Amino acid sequence: MRDIEQLSKSITDRTETTAADFVQIGLQVRYRRIPTRWEIVPTSTSKGGKLRVLPLHKQPGALLGFVLDKGPLNEVLLVPTVEPGTAADKTLDPYRLRTEFLRLHVNDRDATLAFLNAVGLWGIRPNYSTSQKLPSFPVPELNPVDAVADFRHITGGAVPISPGQLERTQKEWRARIELLKRPQELHKQFSVPPGGSYEDQFGFALNSEWYNTVPLHMEWHGKTVQGVIQPVSVIEMLNVTLHLDLLRKMEPQVCQRHDCRTRFTGRRRKYCSDYCAQLESVRAHRGRKNATNKDRKAW
Ligand SMILES: [Zn+2]
Repeated sequence: MRDIEQLSKSITDRTETTAADFVQIGLQVRYRRIPTRWEIVPTSTSKGGKLRVLPLHKQPGALLGFVLDKGPLNEVLLVPTVEPGTAADKTLDPYRLRTEFLRLHVNDRDATLAFLNAVGLWGIRPNYSTSQKLPSFPVPELNPVDAVADFRHITGGAVPISPGQLERTQKEWRARIELLKRPQELHKQFSVPPGGSYEDQFGFALNSEWYNTVPLHMEWHGKTVQGVIQPVSVIEMLNVTLHLDLLRKMEPQVCQRHDCRTRFTGRRRKYCSDYCAQLESVRAHRGRKNATNKDRKAW
C-alpha cells in the first residue's frame, strides 16, 4: 500500500492538461423568492426580544448584514421571519430586481417594506460552528431559515437590516457597478490575500461567502447541460448579477430620467425600467415635472 505522501503526489503532480482544467457550459440565473414576512423592530426594545442586537458598529457587522449607527434610519431594524417548511413561490428577474433595489427610496417606509416583502430574504447567515472561538466575530441570534427552493435547501439565520444599512448597501453597489468601467479593480477584490493568521483567513472566507459564493447546480435537457444559479436573497442576487456583468464585460449605464439616475447594465437603453420610461412619456405628454411627488411616510 502506498503511503499518503506518495498518493498525494500522484494526485497533485500534474504535468499535462487534464479534464479538470476547462469545462464550458451555459449559465442561467433564476431568482427564487422565499416568502418572508418583514417587521419593524425598534432597536432600543429589541434586546430582550427574539432578536438580540450586539454593538456591531466597530465589528465586521456588515458581513452579517447590518451595522447599527446613529440617525433616524438606524433607530429601527427590519426583521425577517420565514415560516418553517417554506418553499420558494415565485421566479423573479435578478436584473430588474437589482434596478428596483438601487432606485428604492429608503426614506419611504412603506415602499421599503413592500420591496422586502416582494423579494423575500435579504441575506442568509450560515451557522458558524467556529464563531465561539473568535471573539472579534460576534454572532447575534437571528430568526432561523429552513426553506427549499427547487434544487436548494436553505438553512441558517435570516439576516435583518436597518434602513440605514440598506442605504449604505445601495451606495456600495452603485459604486461597484460604476467600477465595471475598470473591471481589473473588481477582479482584485475577489482574489485570495497571501498568508495571514487563521482569524485573517476566516475574515476573508466570511467576506467571500458573503460576496462571492453561491451554489450552482446542473440541469440536463437531453444531452445538453445547463449550469443554473438560483439566488434566493438580495445579497446573492447582487453578487451573481455583478459576476455575470464581469463575465459579459458589461458597461454601466445611467437612467436618463433626471430624478432617477439609477445605474444598470444590459442592452443599450435610455431608462432603467419600464416605470421610468412610462413616467417620462407621461411627463412629455402632460408637460409637467411633478408626476412622482406623493406623500411618503418616513421612519
Ligand atoms: Zn430610472
